[in-house]
Amino acid sequence: MTRSLAEVGAEASGCTRCRLASTRTQVVFGVGDPDADLLFIGEAPGMHEDRQGEPFVGAAGQLLTTMLGEIGLTRDQVYIANVLKCRPPGNRDPEPDEIETCTPWLVEQISVIQPRVIATLGNFATKFVLQTQRGITSMRGSVYPWHGRQVIPTFHPAAILRGGGTTGRQYADFREDFDLMRATLDAATAPPPAPGPDAAEPETDAEDDGQLGLF
Ligand code: URA
Repeated sequence: MTRSLAEVGAEASGCTRCRLASTRTQVVFGVGDPDADLLFIGEAPGMHEDRQGEPFVGAAGQLLTTMLGEIGLTRDQVYIANVLKCRPPGNRDPEPDEIETCTPWLVEQISVIQPRVIATLGNFATKFVLQTQRGITSMRGSVYPWHGRQVIPTFHPAAILRGGGTTGRQYADFREDFDLMRATLDAATAPPPAPGPDAAEPETDAEDDGQLGLF
């Protein structure tokens, strides 16, 4: 039986599956609407997130919140999570075995939330979700079908801040990616057109149905 997100989060809060359990302040499971159509996936909690127990609450998080506002969304209307649920000490890169032990939590989050659109923030989340070696600069700007959902990679907000924020070289592309999220979300959630009098039987997408079962 599928568990609720609160049940999964309660179990994750005591997770000791990897070495990060001994250095974290707390598990940073995720925040937002458990029924969201749009899921953001970042890399791992930083210092502020580790202290406050919520993803993207530092400067990068403030930029994410602003970008959401620009496409008419609040943090409460989406779900925000990370590949890793615990802060790597000193914000070092996640180790392969940490990713392997942690990502079942992310898979369960996707399975419960059933988002239609997933935005991956930065190289790390994009490479993990889409299993690609291509960098974010070449991946961004497009929508990728993934297990019956749509994945939209974009820059990590921290990278945008490092590059000069709203006056930086990548900011226009970053904005464009949020517009793409809005348009993709609108298309994915639009009610189907009412069938006309001669409407054929609706076709089922067998491949899609099968893939949804994965998550
Ligand atoms: N960077 C991330 O990838 N995730 C956070 O939650 C904060 C900063």
